Amino acid sequence: AHPEPLLELVGVRAAYGPIEVLRGVDLALYPGTVVALLGPNGGGKTTTLKVCSGIMPVSAGEFRLAGRCVNGVDASELARLGICTIPEGRGVFANLTVRENLWVATGTGASLKDLEAAAYERFPILGKRRHQIAGSMSGGEQQMLALSRALGTAPTVLLLDELSMGLAPRVVTEMYDIVGQLVEEGLSILVAEQFARAVLPIATSAALMLQGRVVRSGDPQEIDRELSTSYLGG
Ligand code: ATP
Repeated sequence: AHPEPLLELVGVRAAYGPIEVLRGVDLALYPGTVVALLGPNGGGKTTTLKVCSGIMPVSAGEFRLAGRCVNGVDASELARLGICTIPEGRGVFANLTVRENLWVATGTGASLKDLEAAAYERFPILGKRRHQIAGSMSGGEQQMLALSRALGTAPTVLLLDELSMGLAPRVVTEMYDIVGQLVEEGLSILVAEQFARAVLPIATSAALMLQGRVVRSGDPQEIDRELSTSYLGG
């Protein structure tokens, strides 16, 4: 028997004012898997993640969590239900220290002591930089901090937007290795990524988004081949 999707979009439409940006998105994230949402700029990847985090309303279709329709459920309630987002640009407070950034995440119930212990165990470099201002750290270190903050909320679903942005290729590989570990620890992850090569090695499946729709989904390697041949002419 197939498990049911943990998170599912069925014919989802969404608009910024009069401009419809999602035009019937179908997408399924199964427990313990990574779905790579691929495609060129402006296809609607970020908007899809915004729907999944509850900050973008669904105008038609259904957004389901564990089989239940959650259209209209607000972002804080979705966060309580286990959905956690790392937005494009990382979502750390640039003018706060590492420790202060973790402290902000204690609003969700975890203690600062536990958050720090978990963060520094996973990312020892963050321990060394605990009193450093986040904005002065490297892009990779900031991304580690963003992940640590996110994990502090004990999410079941992680939504990642352009993890690779602004990072050196080697650091991108490191970050996706970590994402792969998180899935082994039981998380389910939806990651929007323009830099397909980075995420493919750890993706369970891939979905190709063009002009507000998922036009193809399935095996990551196959989708990648299509991306590089037909769609982007590469
Ligand atoms: P990117 O990787 O650049 O974020 P994307 O595939 O994630 O690309 P979206 O950011 O979801 O695409 O944008 C989809 C479309 O919606 C684009 O045409 C964009 O211009 C438009 N759009 C995004 N945000 C807004 C907004 N706040 N108001 C109006 N239009 C928007």
